[in-house]
Amino acid sequence: MMEKYCINLLKKLINIESESGNEKKIMEFIEKELKSFGFETKRIYLEKDRFNILGKIGNGSPSICLNSHADTVNPLGKSIPHATVKNGKIFGLGSCDDKGGISAILTTAKEISKTPPKRGSLNIIISVDEEKGGMGVERVIKQGYKFDYAIVGEPSNCEIVRANMGILFLKLKTYGVSTHGSTPWNGINAIEKLFELVTKIKLFLKKYKKHNLVGPFSINLGVIRGGDRPNRVPDYCEGSVDIRISPPHKSKDVLKELRKIIKKFKADFEIIKLHEPMETEENSILIKILKEVYFDVTKRKIIISGKRGWTEASHFRNMLGIDTVILGPGSMKQAHSANEFVKIEEVINCYKIYTNLVKKILQL
Ligand SMILES: [Zn+2]
Repeated sequence: MMEKYCINLLKKLINIESESGNEKKIMEFIEKELKSFGFETKRIYLEKDRFNILGKIGNGSPSICLNSHADTVNPLGKSIPHATVKNGKIFGLGSCDDKGGISAILTTAKEISKTPPKRGSLNIIISVDEEKGGMGVERVIKQGYKFDYAIVGEPSNCEIVRANMGILFLKLKTYGVSTHGSTPWNGINAIEKLFELVTKIKLFLKKYKKHNLVGPFSINLGVIRGGDRPNRVPDYCEGSVDIRISPPHKSKDVLKELRKIIKKFKADFEIIKLHEPMETEENSILIKILKEVYFDVTKRKIIISGKRGWTEASHFRNMLGIDTVILGPGSMKQAHSANEFVKIEEVINCYKIYTNLVKKILQL
């Protein structure tokens, strides 16, 4: 019965277009659904027509928060807002990132609402903007909402991801002196300067130790613009880099160090995006309970890993200091791909894991 609800819900969610920036329709649908189970709901606005939904049942501590994002990236290839089922998989844009997670979370909400907690609360945050600025969950927490535990339902094949990297996107700007291309020694080449700067940063990042779950720091020069003709030495160049920072380091501290290097090059920079990494200890209460629950549902031992991509788990962990893990159906290989899908079995397993976890924590 609940399994059928879960799968039908996932199809409905995929069929509602919700590209980042255009989430109003899907959020109204989710709000209505949560209300129909007797959840108290609140809209937390980012801007006009863009709001997160916070749903709650029960009161006080312990409080557990389940979170997924409802926005998707733009359609690509076969990944469109149209659900199709084949060989135990549901295809469509957002099926694994993150609508499979939302379906599992809402099904848990529906089941818990049948025996509401007498002590403690279940909180649901469905966020917007994750694929753009990643400001959804941050906005909710900044309003003063607190929880004791958080699960972020991003694709993890229902395994535990207890660490993710931070991100720092910078636009670097280097300056030179123009002259004729036949006598480049009379000028300063801003494009060459940009490459030297990026190389310097790359070398600097190597001094940070590799993290056992998420791996080493990295830098990718993804955009470069400069110069206008082969026979002129360019006097200006800009390039955008994507730097990944592992825990326990802080993106803000790394930026402080990079600022010094950039200054030495007499270059400038703009911050395009900055988010912190996160890590929850393996011996935390949340992971201990999840291990038991996972075994009960799947009869397998859970795999614990880290994720190089950033997630909103960072906001829960860093802003509230609470045990936070990423656990959701689907694989990151399918997220943002041209043929996105999620396995039905994984969505159902996640719903069972979430439900058993909430019941254990709230002693239902
Ligand atoms: Zn996602």
